[in-house]
Amino acid sequence: MSARIIDGKAFAAQVREKVAAHVARLKEVQGITPGLAVVLVGDDPASEVYVRNKGKQTLEVGMNSYEHKLPAETSEAELLALIERLNADPEVHGILVQLPLPGHLNSDLVINSIDPAKDVDGFHISNVGLLGTGQKAMVPCTPLGCLMMLRDQLGSLSGLNAVVVGRSNIVGKPMAQLLLGDSCTVTIAHSRTKDLAAVCRRADILVAAVGRAEMIPGDWIKPGATVIDVGINRIERGGKKKLVGDVHFESAAAVAGAITPVPGGVGPMTIACLLANTVTACCRANGLREPEGLTA
Ligand code: NDP
Repeated sequence: MSARIIDGKAFAAQVREKVAAHVARLKEVQGITPGLAVVLVGDDPASEVYVRNKGKQTLEVGMNSYEHKLPAETSEAELLALIERLNADPEVHGILVQLPLPGHLNSDLVINSIDPAKDVDGFHISNVGLLGTGQKAMVPCTPLGCLMMLRDQLGSLSGLNAVVVGRSNIVGKPMAQLLLGDSCTVTIAHSRTKDLAAVCRRADILVAAVGRAEMIPGDWIKPGATVIDVGINRIERGGKKKLVGDVHFESAAAVAGAITPVPGGVGPMTIACLLANTVTACCRANGLREPEGLTA
């Protein structure tokens, strides 16, 4: 194995430390405590775990956490009324509605009812537009985490060939915009891309966000490339359940310059970036200097 393994857990801990230091300064100097409201509708067990982790980590960095758990049969009007209250609440700087929502609720309508300045998931149509036009936006957490790791590994990304495999609104597209913002030459690949192997082999930076277990083998990777594996796939091997990425780790690590493992790579960065976005939103709301190194 030749690649450097990018330790997402350790890097996420550093991000949380930076956030905590900034929160402490905000409290001490300005008397402001950033607050994150998380809204969960229904009782999906995976969503409950995510929401619990988000609440716990929010408190650990010294911010206020407001959890709103609503029953699965909550009407759209009730949910929109809650979001309106949170939009107007000066103690709440970030609002996150846990997805997926129960089928009778229109996710686009709900997300677009959040004040864009408090949209710490970066899914509001205004933030999508701001990011797409190179303006100051709230940036989706997973791609923001990938960008932070890439900058940490490579310094300047300017002029590098970046290939993003996957074009979803939550990972692939914003990732490509962020890489473009850092002056990479960006290719977005997807299920209709012809000769994906050849496209991947051109990449100095390869970001895989597909959701297909180990579909990218080592011989698709340019020697020395930096590989960011966003995929989380549950498989069974040798009678044991296992998490793997979209990249075949062992063969890729033999060729790449650096690679994120799964688990322990991109995953831990997502909540860390949610906390970073909340402190950024708080600073912007109060006209204060934004924390360095925590934004795009
Ligand atoms: P989506 O299912 O929304 O998008 C998957 C993308 O992969 C689509 O654009 C699709 O192309 C493309 N694709 C599918 N099959 C192929 C193929 N054979 N060749 C090339 N491209 C293909 O997934 P998400 O973006 O939401 O998530 C991607 C992965 O990242 C998942 O494993 C998910 O669990 C993980 N994830 C991890 C996070 C983390 O915190 N670490 C956070 C979010 C997601 P097309 O558009 O043509 O259909």
